[in-house]
Amino acid sequence: MTSPHTADKYKCNICKDVGWVQNGDGTWSRCKCYEKECIERLWANFGVKVADVKKLNEYKPYDDRTAQAKNKAIQYLRTFDKIINTNENSFGLFGQAGSGKTHIIVAIGAALLRREKDPVPVVYMPYLEAIRELKANSMDDEYYAKLSGRYCTAKVLIIDDLFKDKIKNGKLMQDKYGHNVALNEADMKHIYPILNYRYINHLPTLISTECTPQTLMELDEALAGRILERCGSNMVVFQGEEYNFRMRKFVEAAANTEVS
Ligand SMILES: [Zn+2]
Repeated sequence: MTSPHTADKYKCNICKDVGWVQNGDGTWSRCKCYEKECIERLWANFGVKVADVKKLNEYKPYDDRTAQAKNKAIQYLRTFDKIINTNENSFGLFGQAGSGKTHIIVAIGAALLRREKDPVPVVYMPYLEAIRELKANSMDDEYYAKLSGRYCTAKVLIIDDLFKDKIKNGKLMQDKYGHNVALNEADMKHIYPILNYRYINHLPTLISTECTPQTLMELDEALAGRILERCGSNMVVFQGEEYNFRMRKFVEAAANTEVS
């Protein structure tokens, strides 16, 4: 481990920063802190330092909807250990950009990852960058399986800005014939298996997307249904004219604090 060894202060008191712990039968296992460090390195690969992530209590709601989102996030964190084994163990923020969706879901994930007791290995998946990486490695079967498997099997997965490439100004993009875009071959290959695997295996996912439930339905009804089913009441939809105006003010005010 990388931390300096001092007589009485370790980063991990369980293994004293060695990264291994001895089991009752004399064998050795990786300490929990090792997994956490690996996970934090994955976040860092996408430019996010877990220690610097803005906390939930730093999120400043500016109307009923954003206050509701914050409250639901706090509630989700509090009850996480109870709901993880239920059918509604995911968390979703949908709709208009600028409402701080990223701040909230990333804060939930970082809080779970960094909690004292039973830290949860939360994998961070910024949608566009992660899909780009998957596409770039799709010819390397072994590495691809490792990458994709990481998102499939994560104990908790954050998908930030899901389907960012499909939506503009709150509407599905259109093809040259004026038809709404749909899921294409690449989506079916890269993101669909991840979402599907997580659905089938009841694995919690924290999702932010500019899509509303309605636009998700238009993209793929079955997929949308599955995402919404897993979120249950742990979701908020930011939708409506007022966000066009408020959004701009909020974005300016939050520009320095937002995780981008
Ligand atoms: Zn340790």
